[in-house]
Amino acid sequence: MEEPATGKLRIPIAYMICNQPPPLSDSEPSRMKFQDVTTLFHEFGHCLQHMLTTVNYPQASGIKGLEWDFLEVASQFMENFAYEPEWLDRMAHHYKTDESMPQDMKKTVMKSRECLAGLAMMRQLHFATLDMELHTNYKARSSNSTDGESIFDVNRRIAQKTCLVPPIPEDRFLCSFAHIFGGGYAAGYYSYKYSELYSADAYAALEEQAGSIESKRRIGRKYRDTILAYGGGTDPKQAWKEFRGRDGVQVDALLRHSGLQSATAKM
Ligand SMILES: [Zn+2]
Repeated sequence: MEEPATGKLRIPIAYMICNQPPPLSDSEPSRMKFQDVTTLFHEFGHCLQHMLTTVNYPQASGIKGLEWDFLEVASQFMENFAYEPEWLDRMAHHYKTDESMPQDMKKTVMKSRECLAGLAMMRQLHFATLDMELHTNYKARSSNSTDGESIFDVNRRIAQKTCLVPPIPEDRFLCSFAHIFGGGYAAGYYSYKYSELYSADAYAALEEQAGSIESKRRIGRKYRDTILAYGGGTDPKQAWKEFRGRDGVQVDALLRHSGLQSATAKM
């Protein structure tokens, strides 16, 4: 960003502070689980949007001021790379022999995102619906009263639509749903799944270039110059149209990545 007083450029800095599993013994290095890797890619996406901003106003630059619908697009976009065989070759090596990950293991990693994907999607829809219901319609009971629903009753009511197995009466998941009570995502949890629609469709723009490095670079630059550069300073609708060349988002890529689309409809 540009310093208004001096006209000098100020380079954005992002810190990513992570936990790492401890080594199993003194003679071994720490090894990341695959989920740690996707989390690292996710957070790096937030960092990229922060560092590549071209907005000069801190309140709207990078990840600041982004609409909830679009908040997790840049982060979830990056998660897709962790499942690419080319990237697995570059980053996944045996810690003793330095050998690349075997072919069948790479295939397993790529297929793993399809494992129980329908249930995982329903789980996110449950969390999002429950969060929205509690923060928009729920009237808290007065203390000592048993009239009306408790928050756990609301959980069970929403679950009738979103869970194959209803929560048991003792279920107190809500006591640990920190995102929506202390994590800043109150009435905003939906952003993960909603943004994933966009991040999957944005990643499909790269997939559609099938093998052409130059055209993938062109898409990558366009992504950097629109979605990443505009941050909260431009209506996401406009940023999306400039990047994708069309209004609106299509659900196909999200379903395809999750293995929820029929084989004939796959690319
Ligand atoms: Zn995130």
